[in-house]
Amino acid sequence: MTAPLPIPTNDTARAEEPVQMQVQVAVPLFAISGELSYSVPTELATQAIPGMRVIIPVGKRKFVGVITANNHISSVDGTRLRPIEQILDELPLLSPEQIELCRFVASYYVAPFGEVIKLCLPPGTQALLKTAKIGKKAKLKAASHSHSQHAAQSGLVAEASPATLSPHQNTAISTILTNPPGAYLLEGVTGSGKTQVYLEVARALLAKGLSSLFIVPEIALTEQLLARLQAFLGEPVVLLHSNLTPAARREALFTLATGNARIVLGARSALFAPVKNLGLIVVDEEHEPSFKQEESPRYHARDVAIYRAKLESAIAILGSATPSLESLYNVDCGKLTHLMLPERVSGARTLPKIEVVDLRARKAHRQSQREDRAKSEGSRISILSRPLKEALAACLAAKQQALLFLNKRGYAGIVVCDTCGHMGMCKECSVSLTYYKSKNAMLCHQCGHTERATEKCPECSNDTVALGLGTERIEDEVRALFPDARTGRLDRDAVRDQSELQELLTQTQAGLIDVLIGTQMLAKGHHFPNVTLVGVVLADTALSMPDFRAAERAFHTLVQVAGRAGRGDEPARVIFQTFNPEHPAIGFARTHDTEGFVAYEKAIRAALKKPPFVRSALVRVESTDPRLAKQLAGLVADDLRVHIAHTNVGAQCQVLGPAPAPYEKLRGFTRYHLFISTLGSKLRSQLIAHIQNMDELKKSVRQKRCRLIVDVDPVHML
Ligand code: ADP
Ligand code: ZN
Ligand code: ZN
Repeated sequence: MTAPLPIPTNDTARAEEPVQMQVQVAVPLFAISGELSYSVPTELATQAIPGMRVIIPVGKRKFVGVITANNHISSVDGTRLRPIEQILDELPLLSPEQIELCRFVASYYVAPFGEVIKLCLPPGTQALLKTAKIGKKAKLKAASHSHSQHAAQSGLVAEASPATLSPHQNTAISTILTNPPGAYLLEGVTGSGKTQVYLEVARALLAKGLSSLFIVPEIALTEQLLARLQAFLGEPVVLLHSNLTPAARREALFTLATGNARIVLGARSALFAPVKNLGLIVVDEEHEPSFKQEESPRYHARDVAIYRAKLESAIAILGSATPSLESLYNVDCGKLTHLMLPERVSGARTLPKIEVVDLRARKAHRQSQREDRAKSEGSRISILSRPLKEALAACLAAKQQALLFLNKRGYAGIVVCDTCGHMGMCKECSVSLTYYKSKNAMLCHQCGHTERATEKCPECSNDTVALGLGTERIEDEVRALFPDARTGRLDRDAVRDQSELQELLTQTQAGLIDVLIGTQMLAKGHHFPNVTLVGVVLADTALSMPDFRAAERAFHTLVQVAGRAGRGDEPARVIFQTFNPEHPAIGFARTHDTEGFVAYEKAIRAALKKPPFVRSALVRVESTDPRLAKQLAGLVADDLRVHIAHTNVGAQCQVLGPAPAPYEKLRGFTRYHLFISTLGSKLRSQLIAHIQNMDELKKSVRQKRCRLIVDVDPVHML
């Protein structure tokens, strides 16, 4: 099959002149940021369709690129262009919609177009051509594949719906299906049946021949969703995530591009998958910060999902128990339709009762501490309060399970000399080294640098002490207090890959673990019906982050963690330990009051002119030379302020900084921040463009003396 020659757009050839085809080509390489123009030899003209990969000359070298547009020009103009050399595919690898999606992402997030295109391409499409044979293997054949082996096969026929959907579920489903394709925010407490709504919608669309794309925050945690998708839809599901081997990824993409699978489940990059006849994009747990990519292109999967769905007339559903303020703001602006599932549908159907333990009032528990100190060797003060210990004991006695949550890995966050105050710091990063008792090591959580733990201070040779808390220490304490309890740990140190995670989850589900201790990996999506106690060891950790979203994140995490309790038939307890019981994030989480928290937090953001009420960008200048980083950041800020004054836009924008980033030094780079907020996105683009065009900065970047990072709609502020 040869694809028909599409009607060229933007024709500039005059009628009387002989015509030739011109193509625009994007090269997936950072150094080549725009599109390049080439002529197409007559014999290749019928095949030069957008989405095809081609070999092109650039200077004296050859590259693989992707045709992003074609049009006709006069032959005279054509002779001024170099011709493409070869077409590598028989069918376009990218659809016109994917190309348009990439164009949007590149322009909105100020990223090189080729770099965005790369997200759509199978691995192995090296931009720099090493051998003329490249691409042969990966050739997209017109002949159709059989079902991919990597499309996980379902062993079942499709599962029936739960006996009855709740009235709220029914309303949500019929609203979504009976209206023209729209974008929805599906808000429902944990266990309210949101996933069931996605499944019902996907099934109805499948019947019409339409595909569905499911985006989740972290693919490592999706076994349960995968199983439900397979069982309920009775279709193979293509998994897409960064842990696939290149061969598996290539196969998955080809399976989709040839229309041989209709259900895709993946992490954020799956948004760029070549899905045919797209009917639905679901973004589950839409409030999760991990939807924002931390490297270029710095796109936000939630926002790109809405854009892609609109582009392809598909439905978008963003689901969460704790929606982001951004999505709620979009509801207020009419960009999203709000659907609610206010009640739990399964188990005891009630949300667990949450108690707050004020750690400041622990003088009353001195006696209990003294007793425990003898038992929990090594640690000076037990961090488990009496109410939490008693709840743990009761839970264990009843042969039920408990989860203990602490958002910090390792044993202790700081190793300090108690004579001279010397602190163990990473030499490459401005962060303290975390102490690991099990490995007798100190580790930098930013760059991974590891050194042996020192019992003696390197400065004065006196004793050092480990201060602060980590999951490893909590596990130690639980073992000391409850020697018979079987403990497990769920964090990135204890669980390093998918199979270790799966094993731990299976063990927990099978009741082989009594107390599971973990970081935020524990908070997400797991369904453990026998968990009747959730303890948050220190609810304050997230509150102290130097980030305007700190309270929102703390609130989300607390509600999500609490939501792990009471998913079965037994009543459950949740205990938050905190030094800040009056903090609104803790107070509203205690009563599961999302609406209350949102009203409180919205008022603060509006007053402080922070997102979602303004458009924002974080501009970072970093260099291995600390003085240069500071100087250039200052220069950028001064220049930008002069520009703002000259163009009279001061009332519509705000520039904060320059200031050292919270992690002032990271992997050897000193980093300075500038936070820009504007009322509209046009002005934001103008200000960014102004910065990127500053001569002095451009020169330093070109000479590799500094790096300029522009993060549009930043999520990670550190
Ligand atoms: P959420 O995604 O909001 O956490 P789920 O869709 O996973 O909720 O539903 C929680 C549990 O309740 C699942 O085991 C699911 O199979 C079940 N469930 C969903 N809808 C219903 C319903 N209408 N009646 C009974 N059980 C339901
Ligand atoms: Zn010392
Ligand atoms: Zn480091």
